[in-house]
Amino acid sequence: MIIVPEKEIAGLLTRADAYSAVEQVFASMSKGNAYNFPVIREAIGYEDALYGFKGGFDKSGMALGLKAGGYWPNNLEKHGQINHQSTVFLFDPDTGMVKAMVGGNLLTALRTAAASSVSINHLARKDAKVLGMIGAGHQSVFQLRAAVEQRDFEKIIGWNYHPDMLPRLADVAAELNIPFEAVSLEELGAQADVIISITSAFAPSLMDTHVRPGTHIACMGTDTKGKQEVAAALLARATVFTDEIAQSITIGEAQHAIAAGLITQGDITEIGAVINGTHPGRSTADEITLFDGTGVGLQDLAVASSIVDLAIAKGVATKVDF
Ligand code: NAD
Repeated sequence: MIIVPEKEIAGLLTRADAYSAVEQVFASMSKGNAYNFPVIREAIGYEDALYGFKGGFDKSGMALGLKAGGYWPNNLEKHGQINHQSTVFLFDPDTGMVKAMVGGNLLTALRTAAASSVSINHLARKDAKVLGMIGAGHQSVFQLRAAVEQRDFEKIIGWNYHPDMLPRLADVAAELNIPFEAVSLEELGAQADVIISITSAFAPSLMDTHVRPGTHIACMGTDTKGKQEVAAALLARATVFTDEIAQSITIGEAQHAIAAGLITQGDITEIGAVINGTHPGRSTADEITLFDGTGVGLQDLAVASSIVDLAIAKGVATKVDF
């Protein structure tokens, strides 16, 4: 069994590696070669923790396994550890024997950023110049760094429910040498060609009226029943894409538009279909495209498999008899 500890991940996996692993597994899902198992997420009644499993099997990439982990709200205060904790376990599809254990914390941020980045590459207008960020938490800067690799953005604008967190985005924009401006939601919608929303909100911030024609929106924060980042009416107006339809309609942003009867499951397309060329993706410059990135277990397995290969190649994998 191979062990790749959390501290090794940063030196192993590049954003480009994460991008290609995620793009490939989305394509595989859409071809019917990979599927996610039902998600388990439980409030365990101890330390206010939410714990669960996301798993799946990708027959093309031969990745079988699960990510176990969750959210421990008191970690930072009590133990000096980050609140989100996860670990990926990979199994040999031929034998069922455990193959690898990989730190899942940085991996989660990189695979989530890769998903919105895949959506921007395949769905945003080629001439997109202004990137609008909604959210300035832990994930936001990973999203920002991955997004700017997809288009020649000349300006980054940002809005956050807690404005005091915006310097986090401004600092990364400065590092990337792209001008940054904190704006209102109205200004954000009026200027942005691409919008990434990555918040833990339970009520919409971005409304239908904020968004102009031609925008691509990546909704990345809604991964649980009840969460919501954008108005349901926006999904009715947009062409909606997702990583996985089953998750999109139950725990993703589309749950609200579906419940309100504004769209049906048939209105949602898996991004893998666009990657595979069986769906054209954006068809006009004025179309609003919206990617509902719910976060699937197969993303974790794909990226963890790449990490294991890289760790073996670079000689930093620990091998144990098990
Ligand atoms: P974080 O706690 O570091 O940041 C939370 C963000 O949400 C901040 O910008 C905060 O200001 C904002 N926010 C909080 N309350 C809000 C409200 N009422 N209205 C609007 N904004 C509000 O969290 P994070 O680690 O950056 O994660 C952000 C979200 O992304 C979480 O919901 C997390 O579960 C989700 N997530 C999704 C995936 C995926 O694959 N789709 C993966 C990882 C995390």
